[in-house]
Amino acid sequence: MSDSPKPIISLRNFRVHFPIREGVVFRRLKGMVKAVDGLNFDIYEGETLGLVGESGCGKSTTGRGILQLYRPGVAHVSGEVLYKGQNLNELGRSSKGLNVMRPLRRDLQIIFQDPYASLNPRMTVGNIIAEPLKVHELIKGEANLMKRVRELLEVVGLSPAMAKRYPHEFSGGQRQRLGIARALSLNPRFIVCDEPISALDVSIQAQVMNLMSDLQERFDLTYLFIAHDLAAVKHISDRIAVMYLGKVVELAGGDEIYDRPMHPYSQALISAVPIPDPRAAGKERILLEGDVPSPLSPPSGCRFHTRCPFAIDICKTKEPELLEAAPAHQVACHRVEDGSLPTHVKA
Ligand code: SF4
Repeated sequence: MSDSPKPIISLRNFRVHFPIREGVVFRRLKGMVKAVDGLNFDIYEGETLGLVGESGCGKSTTGRGILQLYRPGVAHVSGEVLYKGQNLNELGRSSKGLNVMRPLRRDLQIIFQDPYASLNPRMTVGNIIAEPLKVHELIKGEANLMKRVRELLEVVGLSPAMAKRYPHEFSGGQRQRLGIARALSLNPRFIVCDEPISALDVSIQAQVMNLMSDLQERFDLTYLFIAHDLAAVKHISDRIAVMYLGKVVELAGGDEIYDRPMHPYSQALISAVPIPDPRAAGKERILLEGDVPSPLSPPSGCRFHTRCPFAIDICKTKEPELLEAAPAHQVACHRVEDGSLPTHVKA
């Protein structure tokens, strides 16, 4: 990260709600799944922001919502996603805006979790990687396109001769490299990495993480790195945001949040990190009881109160704000705010 980082993406009261309908004919609105419900944070140029939380907490929806991947009938996306001074949420809604959006789309790319599912099995990898270049009409002529494809294969550590093969001829790790090559083809500035290593063997995960770190430095990329556990994002992230039921509950530097988690939910996640770490010695494992409540009817007040071992009366009625609890360390918890939270995980 540079010394004075500037935000590349800013979220302001960002929400993604999915309507639930019933009835075959009238499709009556039954309710809204509030998958992402009011996010406010910046992602800085050149950084990796890790986004973690249990399955269903809204982290992948956040990434896809930022990139405007939901059609208006499927999801209600509101609030602001600011990129280069433009609110992408508004641009995505108007036909005039869609033209403005087109060049911006090149800057904003995604790497998917399941590399196999995201690669068309009937296309050669050369054509898969060339497809975005054709859609955006960036390179003219088949020979120039294939030259760029070969360059991209080399950049991700694959042989240029592999351009003629099909996805099923590649291993899981190689397929994820293809997904990365495709994301890089348009020279993006910001990439949503949607659990890019969770479908890979542990032995391959480190290789893909190292590749992504190298590419970040080489091409000056900014990552939003989504993962369901803290161990996966710890090494690659400059900062980490912890999500619970559509809200960010804690946001701080990667080491800071790992060494000094303040929110009870982050404490539980960190106490469950299964890697051997001398710093974890003496820390108590916190087991969360119950399941994550439905985002169709999230709990009132603090959404974590139904599972929080420290909940008090106010937690059931008043929603805590994400506030600065220490320098560059934000937490949404009433008891952190008033200093009454017992120290559960020893630092
Ligand atoms: Fe627990 Fe209350 Fe803090 Fe929520 S606000 S995390 S329920 S102590």
